[in-house]
Amino acid sequence: MQEERIQHLIQFDRAHVWHPFTPMRQWRQAEPLIIEAAEGDFLIDARDRRYIDGVSSLWCNVHGHRVPAIDRAVRTQLERVAHTTMLGLSNVPATELAQRLCAIAPGGLNKVFYSDAGATATELAFKMAMGYWRHRGDKQRDTFIALHGAYHGDTTGSMSVGYSPLFHKPFESMVFHTEFVDAPDVFHTEGTQGRRDEGTKGDPRPEERGLKRVWPLEDAALCRRVTARALDSLESRLKEKRGRIAAVAVEPIVQGAAGLIVQPPGYLKAVERLCREHDVLLIADEVATGFGRTGRMFACEHEGVEPDLMCLGKGLTGGYLPLAATLATEEIERAFCGELHEHKTLYHGHTYTGNPLACAAALASLDLFEQNDLLSAVNRKAALVADGLNPLRDAEKYPNVGDIRQRGLMIGIELVPPTGEAATGFDPSRRLGYEVCDACRDRGLIVRPLGNVVVLMPPLAIEEQNLRRMMDIVIETIGAQRS
Ligand SMILES: *Cc1c(COP(=O)(O)O)cnc(C)c1O
Repeated sequence: MQEERIQHLIQFDRAHVWHPFTPMRQWRQAEPLIIEAAEGDFLIDARDRRYIDGVSSLWCNVHGHRVPAIDRAVRTQLERVAHTTMLGLSNVPATELAQRLCAIAPGGLNKVFYSDAGATATELAFKMAMGYWRHRGDKQRDTFIALHGAYHGDTTGSMSVGYSPLFHKPFESMVFHTEFVDAPDVFHTEGTQGRRDEGTKGDPRPEERGLKRVWPLEDAALCRRVTARALDSLESRLKEKRGRIAAVAVEPIVQGAAGLIVQPPGYLKAVERLCREHDVLLIADEVATGFGRTGRMFACEHEGVEPDLMCLGKGLTGGYLPLAATLATEEIERAFCGELHEHKTLYHGHTYTGNPLACAAALASLDLFEQNDLLSAVNRKAALVADGLNPLRDAEKYPNVGDIRQRGLMIGIELVPPTGEAATGFDPSRRLGYEVCDACRDRGLIVRPLGNVVVLMPPLAIEEQNLRRMMDIVIETIGAQRS
């Protein structure tokens, strides 16, 4: 009976569901994993198998699944009203949440515009930035600067500013022009792979040399070089396009979809300084990094950066419901205020803008951050991960690991094809990341790669024993990958 039901679901999925970011022909050839329930750090499939949710249900889950306090908040709101419009009306949780968000946001971000996906939050930021200059009478600013590899979502505007030749080639005619500058990508820029630690003279443990690799981000001189080059690229573009740039958009501290590219210290602060010097707006896309993911509430706080516009999504509701927000300074919002005949109104909105159920979940999630001192826990667990992944520095045992990048509980393990003799007979079209992630599934862990990068993004509240289990599974699976 149970099996019959599962077979129906599989049949319906194959017949009718078009999955996001999914090669559908190949999808239909494999058996889909259908999630039926969840509990804490675990997802439970229709066959009652349990998996650690190592991607936080695509980077959004914060406190685990079926958290009593959030469940309760949503139920309580459900007994009042599930949805009303924000066009011409307000609602209780959306109003309360706006106040809470402004209280914790960096700098002068004091206005909240709700939408329902990260992509709509960035789309709004771009429209706000463009409209800001127009309404002030500056008609020359018609473009944005973004980083190579940037990802800001999949609507047309967000696709334009986060253009990826791989994803967006068929839509080239839809996207608007954006100026792309170098990202401070330490690993890929200089092609250094986990350099071997040569040890210092008189190293008492020569037998360990050659095994203990240091990762590129741990090389301060390399980081300075790459940062300087990236900043040069930005500064010269700002000069070249003087008066034409509306805003610089960045994913602060960690560029997520690019492959968990961690920015060296000082980079973000210098970007802010260049924006101020050249009088352009700074947009911080904190959709992935916001809400504790990097160890601070917002990644901008690591460098005391105060953006003009900040985009929030993913973790905003604790990973419960689709809600996003674009935060703006008073100054930006004021540019949209005027007499009716001036037509400065921001004519933008979505049907489910400010949805009360989602806002209630977000409020409960923010309470839990405080009650559980979650940010301290994230930093503690981040240290545990850094330590736990140390075995992967062994070049002999794990020659397929090229780099490990981490900030808080955002972790990327970049796999590399073998080099030298080991490369003989190796099929370069192999999808190393997918191979490892698929194999992790058989061991009870759901993770999803970005290309050759195995991404570990557990719920922030993950129990330490589950975090350890996650690392054991990943290390074991990487070690077992056949070249
Ligand atoms: C995921 C993501 C988005 C898009 O969010 P959606 O909710 O998927 O539309 C935008 N920016 C960044 C940095 C993201 O990681």
